[in-house]
Amino acid sequence: MIIECWGRVCDQLRSDIGQDAFQNWIEPLNLLSVENGVASFSAPTSFVGTWVNRNYGDSITMMMTREGVDVDRLAFKADVLVKPVAAPTVEEVTTPDEKPKPPVTTGSPDLPGSPLDKRFTFDSFVVGKPNELAHAAARRVGEGGPVTFNPLFLYGGVGLGKTHLMHAIAWEIKERNPKAKVLYLSAEQFMYRFVQALRFKDTMSFKELFRSVDVLMVDDVQFIAGKDSTQDEFFHTFNALVDQNKQIIISADRAPGEIDGLEDRIKSRLQWGLVVDLHPTDYELRLGILQSKAEAQLRHYPEVKLADGVLEFLAHRISNNVRVLEGALTRLFAFASLVGREVTLDVVQESLADVLRASDRKVTIDEIIRKVADHYNLRLTDILSPRRARSVARPRQVAMFLAKTLTSKSLPEIGRRFGGRDHTTVIHAVKKIEELRSIDNQIAEDVELLRRMLEA
Ligand code: ADP
Ligand code: MG
Repeated sequence: MIIECWGRVCDQLRSDIGQDAFQNWIEPLNLLSVENGVASFSAPTSFVGTWVNRNYGDSITMMMTREGVDVDRLAFKADVLVKPVAAPTVEEVTTPDEKPKPPVTTGSPDLPGSPLDKRFTFDSFVVGKPNELAHAAARRVGEGGPVTFNPLFLYGGVGLGKTHLMHAIAWEIKERNPKAKVLYLSAEQFMYRFVQALRFKDTMSFKELFRSVDVLMVDDVQFIAGKDSTQDEFFHTFNALVDQNKQIIISADRAPGEIDGLEDRIKSRLQWGLVVDLHPTDYELRLGILQSKAEAQLRHYPEVKLADGVLEFLAHRISNNVRVLEGALTRLFAFASLVGREVTLDVVQESLADVLRASDRKVTIDEIIRKVADHYNLRLTDILSPRRARSVARPRQVAMFLAKTLTSKSLPEIGRRFGGRDHTTVIHAVKKIEELRSIDNQIAEDVELLRRMLEA
């Protein structure tokens, strides 16, 4: 019964996440048991387990529950035979600040790369839940040991640290092995070089150059989508380097499968290695980044004083993009130093009014169901079940109300995700909660608390 349920869940997952991702992540898992709401799996490495839990955990729990097996949580055991890919240890992460920085260069003298930013090192990269896997993978590659993931494909939205991590890998490899030929360039530059070579009928030296490097990094590869001859050349370079066991690191703003206009053979080749994404930042990570950047700013502007709560306020109010967060902080310090005032919340609101637009973080229905279930101490099955008892029906209505107000999903879609209910049920739930909110303090508080947790 459990095995059949897992089989059906696998079918759904395969169609949801695509054959490639399915093969990489789900197929290697074995469902061992389901006990007390915990589904235990074996996974080839602990990395795979953590990854699956992070990326597909909610979907898998939800799907199993819908298929009639009562699951609240997943647990993964690494197969002992395979050496797990360990996350970096604490020592590795907190290398002392005094560590000599590599000099600023514009790439190796003989390599036509883009300049590396000397600020983008592992030391200055703040690690949190949303980026820990990408960071661990980048560290691994930076160590420069045997090539295990090839290519390493980093993807994520704008300003989440892709370029920073790539530069950090480059610095690290160069520091450990000054002779290594590391070539970092944007996809745009790759194309520019290639077009130049074509123009001057010098594609031979172009090919030789690219194929002589030890490590090739191409940033923002979505740029070459749709540019056919560049893609072709990229593909050949890529293959040649992989054949020679040279490390390749690629970044894009989307997963390989989602880049329109990228040839299928390239997409699948990109998925051969390790594909890791940088998730949107959460409150803790934003605060961590702000604290670290504020310390750096204070070295430039020792006269500036930050009032308590300013960084927390910014971490709450400014959305995902770390570049925006950094820009806001820089402006704040410049402003404070000019006007010679302590930075209070008032100063923040005055000087950053335009940046402080409400963040438009996307909340998912699955997240809402899980948070509401946790809040009311219910199981996911209860929320999705047809039970009408008040103790279950009310929280379910709260969850539907939040799904309607916090996401852009349609009523029928919301109904479907709540155990296949009709859209009129959702309308009824939304009305009911709106009504209750004005007469029942407890409900009003619950909704407010949940909304804040979901939007954090
Ligand atoms: P992307 O290439 O993903 O668009 P970047 O790597 O250019 O983003 O990052 C944008 C800015 O945010 C950079 O200045 C970078 O140093 C900073 N940044 C992003 N993530 C972090 C982090 N985790 N810790 C410290 N700084 C970060
Ligand atoms: Mg970038």
